[in-house]
Amino acid sequence: MSDIESLKNDLVIASRILANEEICDAFGHISVRHPVDPDRFLLARAVAPELVTSDDIIELNLDGSAVCDDRKPFLERFIHGTLMAARPDVQSVVHSHSRGVIPFGITDTPIRPLLHSCGVLGHDVPVWDAGDVFGDTNLLISSNDMGADFAARLGNGRAALMRGHGSTVVGRSIQEAVYTAVYLDVNAQLQAEAMQLGKVKYLTDGEIDLIQSRLGDAKPGEGYDRTWQYWARRAGVGPDAPVP
Ligand code: MN
Repeated sequence: MSDIESLKNDLVIASRILANEEICDAFGHISVRHPVDPDRFLLARAVAPELVTSDDIIELNLDGSAVCDDRKPFLERFIHGTLMAARPDVQSVVHSHSRGVIPFGITDTPIRPLLHSCGVLGHDVPVWDAGDVFGDTNLLISSNDMGADFAARLGNGRAALMRGHGSTVVGRSIQEAVYTAVYLDVNAQLQAEAMQLGKVKYLTDGEIDLIQSRLGDAKPGEGYDRTWQYWARRAGVGPDAPVP
């Protein structure tokens, strides 16, 4: 199997995982940078993640224009291209409207990592507010200008929220991006629960650095095999089951 076919398969597995773990519902998407041309990326056509097959994956330029494909792309494809343009280290991007994080995008309480598996979120999880620069919009990132503004808010981080809309995470691999998207929502849910009980003891910056360096020990973006296999099995796709 070629690199590109293998990445398409992984995108299908990732899409099914994100749907099965309730990170994505009918909306949300995951991309991967093209293995040969870093100025392109792969993303499904506009279809619910639960339904994505390898035939649905299309190739886009970083400006969001399609490479020889007239199928309907996601409106919010600009999130992926602008982040990959701003961050050469980013290989994969997940955008979702997962519910757990929404309260943290509309209040002044920031998400802070509180569980070892959530150390990948990094020191800060900023909130981007479309209204700050663009005024009243439908809140969707529907242009390269909005994408670039969001990418600037994410900076060198791993995850950022979009006020009243959702969140986006980046990874150095598809597996890392999926892991970060799942554990962003886990952290949000646990943080909301813990805050009801009292003062929360969060991970320290030093702990976060140690957790991140452990996961990156082998090669950047690796170290996520166990969760990938587990979630794929739960979703009923690869690595042992046929990929649609
Ligand atoms: Mn969205």
